[in-house]
Amino acid sequence: MALEAFENGDCDIISLGRPVLADLDYVNKLRTNRYCEVRPCISCQGACMGRIQEFSMINCVVNPQAARERVTRYEPITKAKKVANIMYSIWDAFEVANHI
Ligand code: SF4
Repeated sequence: MALEAFENGDCDIISLGRPVLADLDYVNKLRTNRYCEVRPCISCQGACMGRIQEFSMINCVVNPQAARERVTRYEPITKAKKVANIMYSIWDAFEVANHI
């Protein structure tokens, strides 16, 4: 509705709050017609307005990275990692310890 009003020239600016909390890439997704990729705000008021009322740090129920983007940023893995199957090793240790 807001995008339609903007495209029709009914308004010059759209103010966004919760939609951007729910999806930081909201505007870029609309600009590039990727509407299906938008993670919508569900209007729960849980982690944004609810936390403001408690004077605690704002967040979002559908986007736990909201307001914590710097510390929760995903770092791409560019180098292969060696992964150990820990459960197998624990079972082996159990067998050895119990003479199975
Ligand atoms: S916490 Fe709920 S109401 Fe607030 S931005 Fe996230 S989805 Fe929307």
